[in-house]
Parts: sequence; structure tokens; C-alpha cells
Amino acid sequence: MAELNEVDTCLRTLLRPEAFRDYGPNGLQVEGRRELRRIVSGVTASLAFIEAAIAAGADTLIVHHGLFWRGQDGRLTGWLKERVKRLLAADVSLFAYHLPLDAHAEFGNNAQFGLRLQLAADARFGEQDLGFIGDAGGAVTAAALAARAELALARRPLLLPGDGRPLRRIAWCTGGAQGYFEAAVAAGADAFVTGEVSEPQAHLARETGVAFLACGHHATERYGAAAVAAQVAARFGIEHRFIEIDNPA
Ligand SMILES: [Zn+2]
Repeated sequence: MAELNEVDTCLRTLLRPEAFRDYGPNGLQVEGRRELRRIVSGVTASLAFIEAAIAAGADTLIVHHGLFWRGQDGRLTGWLKERVKRLLAADVSLFAYHLPLDAHAEFGNNAQFGLRLQLAADARFGEQDLGFIGDAGGAVTAAALAARAELALARRPLLLPGDGRPLRRIAWCTGGAQGYFEAAVAAGADAFVTGEVSEPQAHLARETGVAFLACGHHATERYGAAAVAAQVAARFGIEHRFIEIDNPA
């Protein structure tokens, strides 16, 4: 058994939310019961995830995408009311960590996604140092990197192949980090791997020669919350499981 405030402190110490400028509040977003026994982690606090976690007996949820974001008007209506209502009715806590969970050097989304691509970062780049970059481990083709990502994620990436150069330096940033492409190019990357793609990146890949892979926002961010939650659960000797709610985007 763990106390809610102990788990809260543990997460804050591990993820250092005070070091980031973020789009929403990091940490405890919805407060539930004080004594914790079972953590369920997931990518997004969607209604489907909340319901599945409660059905699995969770008293604590740890996710990457929480409920509250800058730009919302603050009303608990519609879909947001439904999600919050489930949590409050079940007296379940929701912890959400966004950028701090992307950035953590060992358990974060970028580090964990890198592991699955057989990549380790030796430097960081981009805004708030969220981008990871490292050696490809020999000269890799863009097609081989795409195949590696497909095997790891069970999802075919969209590949903008660049100029076909051998890849020696590979940069990556999970989720909707297509805006980091230019910073990746400036950091010396031969390829940039992220979750999403937008229209401008097709032109930039052609004109800079740097390959771009969009592997899915959800798919690239499946691993950080689970890794962090597993650490916390082990620390307190409580249960943890990850629940996947498929998302094609
Ligand atoms: Zn994300």
C-alpha cells in the first residue's frame, strides 16, 4: 500500500515538472482516495481508458495526456464532464505528466522509444531540449530505419526519404513534434523520427535531404507512462499494469 501524497512526491521528484514550460498542469489532476494499491498507466486519459482502468480495479491512473490543457475554457461539460465524473465516482486519482514525461532521460517517452528503435541519445536539441539525437550505429538506410520502426511499433510509418544518404545521426522526438524537424536538421541529423507529420515537412525533407518518419503520435508515446508507473509501483510494492487503447493517430 502507498499513500497518495507519497506517490505524488515520488513522481514530482522523478519528473521535475518545475523545469518545464508546459501546455497544462503536470502532476495530480484529479484527487481520489488516499490509500493506493493498484496503478494503471496509459497514454491518454480518454473515457475508454478511464473506464477500462476502473474496471481493472485501479485506484491511481498515470498518463501522458491528461484532462486539462491551455486554451480550454474551464467548464466541466460534455466529454470532459463524463471523464471527470467517472474518476470522482470511483474515487480514483489521475496523474498526468506531459513534457516532463517526454524528456526523462531513462523512463521518458523519448528514451523508451529510442530503446525500441535501438537508438541511444548522446545529445539533445530543440526547444526545452526535448529532442534526442544519437549515432545510428553504422550507416543505415531510411528504408531500414522505417522497417525497424514498423517492427517495433506494429504500425507502418510514413516515410519521407530525403536524398537517400546513409543515415549516421538520427534524431527523434515522440508525439506531435513535427515542428522540431528544422532543429533536428540544424543539429546534424540525417533523419528525424516523430509521431506526426504536417504539410511543410514533405518540402523540408526534399529540400534539406534529411529523411522524416511519422510513426504515429500514440504509437511513439506508448512507453513512457508505463515505464514511470512501473518504477513507482516497484518503489512502493504496489501493482501496476498498462492498458492500451488503440489509436490510429
Ligand atoms: Zn503527445
